[in-house]
Amino acid sequence: MNLHACTLCPRKCGADRTLGVGVCGGSDTVRIARAALHFGEEPCISGTKGSGTVFFSGCALQCRFCQNHKISKDNFGTEVSVKRLAELFLELQDKGAHNINLVTPSHYAPWIADALRMTKPNLCIPIVCNCSGYESDEILDTFADLIDIYLPDLKYFSSEKSLRYSNTSDYFDVASKALQRMYAQVGPCEFTSDGLMKKGMLIRHLVLPEGKRDSITLLKWISKTFPSENIRISLMRQYAPCGDLKECPELNRKLFSIEYNTVVRQANSLGMQGFIQGKGCDNFAMTPNFDLTGVTKKGTLL
Ligand code: SF4
Repeated sequence: MNLHACTLCPRKCGADRTLGVGVCGGSDTVRIARAALHFGEEPCISGTKGSGTVFFSGCALQCRFCQNHKISKDNFGTEVSVKRLAELFLELQDKGAHNINLVTPSHYAPWIADALRMTKPNLCIPIVCNCSGYESDEILDTFADLIDIYLPDLKYFSSEKSLRYSNTSDYFDVASKALQRMYAQVGPCEFTSDGLMKKGMLIRHLVLPEGKRDSITLLKWISKTFPSENIRISLMRQYAPCGDLKECPELNRKLFSIEYNTVVRQANSLGMQGFIQGKGCDNFAMTPNFDLTGVTKKGTLL
């Protein structure tokens, strides 16, 4: 990657990351907001002991409605060295994490890959790449052989929606290719005897207000593209209005049950396997505190 004119992600914004930050908020030093056990992921990821989440600051997609806007847009976090990042992975493993869950890692892919290579011999839990789906070949090639589980979003089929909500009209073009590349890397899902995911791809989709037709189109694409027994999907109903939605008033409400249930029926009729979020999660209860938990280590420099 060229740090002086970054084209790492599909935004290709050309920022000089040695002098400032790009659209994603990323400079030439990794920034993270939290490293801790997290119980709010799908059961096959969180299990009973928690997922070892590392929340990276910044995000290239900058969705208007992001529930993690404190880190994704405001870039809250602190800088850590690659060595410290590698230590954090091992500390999470020592705390009993079922996996290392890299949340929005893409704009720091080369640094994370170095930290993973440093620790891989001592890490015996799966590595999860929890990302927006808006990924370049370069990012995915950087992660090849290092990631066990891809946990990508698939957000929009409609280019009007992706332009309106995430300021990019090519989201589906990019993400549809990226998901196929992820699947080619990790192959069919594998689970432990107690239901934890060891390997494979779990595609997340957040149903949006006024979005059920788009959601159904995405489900049909997933079903046509991947063997349903080889992947898992996670349909999410946790949307709650958040951020500045003045220009998107249609997003300024929670989902209606009928919208979500229509999408769930479609997933069932396509024979898809995975997870359906229950009622009552359309709030911020599952959003962790972004307060540098687990990041700093007493008495050491970052
Ligand atoms: S990774 Fe960040 S700096 Fe690089 S092209 Fe993407 S948005 Fe720009």
